[in-house]
Amino acid sequence: MKGKKKTGIFRKYLDFPLIYKITIGFLLGVVAGLTVGPSISVVKPLGDLFLRLLRMIVMPLIFFTLVVGASTIDPKKLGRIGGKVIAWYFATSFIAAAIGISIGLLVKPGIGHPLAEVEYTVTTPPPFIETVLSWVPENPFEALTQFPEGVLPTIIFALMFGIGLTYLRNSKINRHRESGDTLFKVFDACAEIMYKIVRFVLEFAPFGVFALIAIVIGEKGISIFVSYGKIIGAAAVGTAIMILGVYSAVLFACGINPLKFLRGGKEAMLTAFVTRSSSGTLPVTMKCADENFGVNRSAYSFSLPIGATINMDGTAIYMLVVAVFAANAVGHVLTASEIATLIVVAVMSSIGVAGVPMGGLIMLTVTLGSIGLPLQVVGLIAGIDVILDMIRTMGNVTGDMTCALVVSKSENLIDFEKGVWKKGRTS
Ligand code: ASP
Repeated sequence: MKGKKKTGIFRKYLDFPLIYKITIGFLLGVVAGLTVGPSISVVKPLGDLFLRLLRMIVMPLIFFTLVVGASTIDPKKLGRIGGKVIAWYFATSFIAAAIGISIGLLVKPGIGHPLAEVEYTVTTPPPFIETVLSWVPENPFEALTQFPEGVLPTIIFALMFGIGLTYLRNSKINRHRESGDTLFKVFDACAEIMYKIVRFVLEFAPFGVFALIAIVIGEKGISIFVSYGKIIGAAAVGTAIMILGVYSAVLFACGINPLKFLRGGKEAMLTAFVTRSSSGTLPVTMKCADENFGVNRSAYSFSLPIGATINMDGTAIYMLVVAVFAANAVGHVLTASEIATLIVVAVMSSIGVAGVPMGGLIMLTVTLGSIGLPLQVVGLIAGIDVILDMIRTMGNVTGDMTCALVVSKSENLIDFEKGVWKKGRTS
């Protein structure tokens, strides 16, 4: 019986390390896209299925893990972690924006670019204050059904619910304590079930990744990298500096091995790259935090969903690089005060960017408009935004994971006996 089970092809597939399967799917996708061209789009249903599966699990996963997380932690500690997370998100977004502008000024994309009139309908994003107000749900049950707009409202409600549950579990009244404990067990079981589903969905990831990357390469070809090489290169170098320089240095300073961080986070990074959605990648990011990094659920269950919604370091880099591109394309030399305005506006507007494909492209109008740069650039960039979106989403998700690790380390909420930290582990 034992032998039969082990030799099945399905069993072999399951036993093969996930990250290798995803990487193989990715590489095969690139090859298929290059050789088949646009007609590779026949594999689109595979990619769509993967995206649907991810979206299917996001909201229940956030809700159950957050209620469990919030009810296992002292509310005072929760407040302190929350403060650190928000401070981290702001600080790194400013650093990202500064890197974006520096790389842009150095690489000088857009010089000599004939700024063509490109048809593009500019969508006006809602005012900042409205965005912030919309985080408080009028109807939490409705918020649960709305992805991704419902993510932050659900976080707010789940946090309150979880804190309420803590009080119930610590009540002096027996009946309340017992029902609180029972409810906690139910939520804990639901969170575990969601993780089981995440693992199942990830087994399908190699096929989804194959299809998603094949379609992009098949449609855009390699030539796109050449014609917009400078802007793509600047965004890629900026994001690489953020990941390999800034995050790695901070992790190292906190006593966390950056190489192990990259090893443990690569599934989420690759998923972010191909799905181009921080919110869609959340199940994978949370799984990495839990299984690969041993981060306590009480810490990552709210820092990661908040990060996927408001922390966009990759997007901040991108916005500044595109702003320099726009200025160069019309032959305008940016002044110091314009640069300062661009940095502040990019950071603030990146908070309002939805963690979905092309979310940043819409918000780009705010950054460019803040100093009167030509909005037609949004139309120009739209053609290559798929590539830029892959790069920035990977940066965004890596930033969220770094925050979860740094903050959890400072609160002693990492189990260093787990995942990539385990001694003797090689993959
Ligand atoms: N696609 C990005 C993300 O989900 C957002 C953006 O377009 O900048 O993180």
